[in-house]
Amino acid sequence: MTIQKADVVIIGAGTTGLSAVYELAKAGADVLVVEKRFLASEQGGRNPGGIRQIGRDKNELPLMVAAMKRWHNLPKELDCDLELSEDGYLWVALNEKELETMRNLAKRDAAYGIKEYALDRSQVQEMAPAISDFVFGGLYSPTDLIANPFLVCKGYYDNAKRLGARFLFNTEVTGLRIENKRICGVITDKGEIVTNTVINAAGPWADRIGRMAEIEIPLIPCPNQFILTEPVPTVLPPFLLISGIGVCRQAANGQVFIGNTNAPGGIGGFSKNTNYGEMTRTATNLIKIVPKFRKLNILRTWVGTLDFSPDDNFIFGRISEVEGLILACGFSGHGFAVAPILGQLLCELIIQGKTSLPTESFNFDRFKQQGAQDKEEHFAHQHMD
Ligand SMILES: Cc1cc2nc3c(=O)[nH]c(=O)nc-3n(C[C@H](O)[C@H](O)[C@H](O)COP(=O)(O)OP(=O)(O)OC[C@H]3O[C@@H](n4cnc5c(N)ncnc54)[C@H](O)[C@@H]3O)c2cc1C
Repeated sequence: MTIQKADVVIIGAGTTGLSAVYELAKAGADVLVVEKRFLASEQGGRNPGGIRQIGRDKNELPLMVAAMKRWHNLPKELDCDLELSEDGYLWVALNEKELETMRNLAKRDAAYGIKEYALDRSQVQEMAPAISDFVFGGLYSPTDLIANPFLVCKGYYDNAKRLGARFLFNTEVTGLRIENKRICGVITDKGEIVTNTVINAAGPWADRIGRMAEIEIPLIPCPNQFILTEPVPTVLPPFLLISGIGVCRQAANGQVFIGNTNAPGGIGGFSKNTNYGEMTRTATNLIKIVPKFRKLNILRTWVGTLDFSPDDNFIFGRISEVEGLILACGFSGHGFAVAPILGQLLCELIIQGKTSLPTESFNFDRFKQQGAQDKEEHFAHQHMD
């Protein structure tokens, strides 16, 4: 049964899909979002809102610089408070080798106009006295941002609706209708949508959508557990990244968000079960860096599923196998930060046929050249949120 028609169908109402629907609706496109659950039900509502330029892959830097400009104007543009603040990021080094890498990153990123400073231990402790001698130094990016991801999702949703976009919640995409290698429809558990353009923004499930078009998108789903503590007096101004341990951020109200990194050879899959062992491992390691957090009570913990690609970089753009299918997935734990520019680029790709910033290095084709990646290799990387 045909229930709808749309020029563009977006699968997934996370930050990627929501940013895209807003931009497309603003450009006058007839666009419909299909979401199997509800607004921001997955990564879009489970991340702590970190917007970092620090430690990015070099191909991402032009996009990240453009995203920062969009972020600064976004509260005004969406006419809502996104709790955007310039908290800065501090990536702490646990040995001299890491600090050397950070010095090089600071030089590299300066060429893109990003202000980053390599600090020795005493400079780190001057900025954040609660940080212990366990830390060797760090890389500080004062202009990195934080936003409230729920408000961002709601802001995009409200504005897209106002501009005429349509949303189908509690509706699961179960198939793609493809004729002569061209998209001509989306099949859902509630009926069919006639369209010739589909954006696959299904997060960790994007590979399942890929299989509906007989393409294999190499994604690895990984649970990422977060902890939120009781509020305590502020001792930690910036968002902390700690290689191999995790991330930590003290919110304005004093509550501390603590997230883990995936341990080498760590847990994969879609389980949302919280793991006591992971929680204590992360907390124990963090206390080495910020001993003042030793007695903190944990108020809640939750898990979100990250969508890792084999090289930790996202997968973006049209594919040669199926005309009309566009990929926007594989964000590998850092897709919130680029959301505003991704929506813009997806819109440009559809409306103008090309993007205003280089995106070739994110093409799906790169995996064909490499062949099937060794999934274990992925765990050898340090992941940062
Ligand atoms: C715990 C955690 C911490 C993170 N921290 C950060 C951070 O600090 N900074 C940062 O930049 N990024 C961070 N990220 C990553 C970031 O949240 C995501 O990259 C970003 O939000 C983009 O997500 P998305 O919209 O692509 O996917 P999702 O938000 O996962 O959305 C995909 C949507 O597709 C829907 N869907 C899937 N299959 C179907 C189907 N068949 N039919 C219909 N709908 C379907 C799902 O229900 C889901 O709502 C974090 C992620 C997690 C989980």
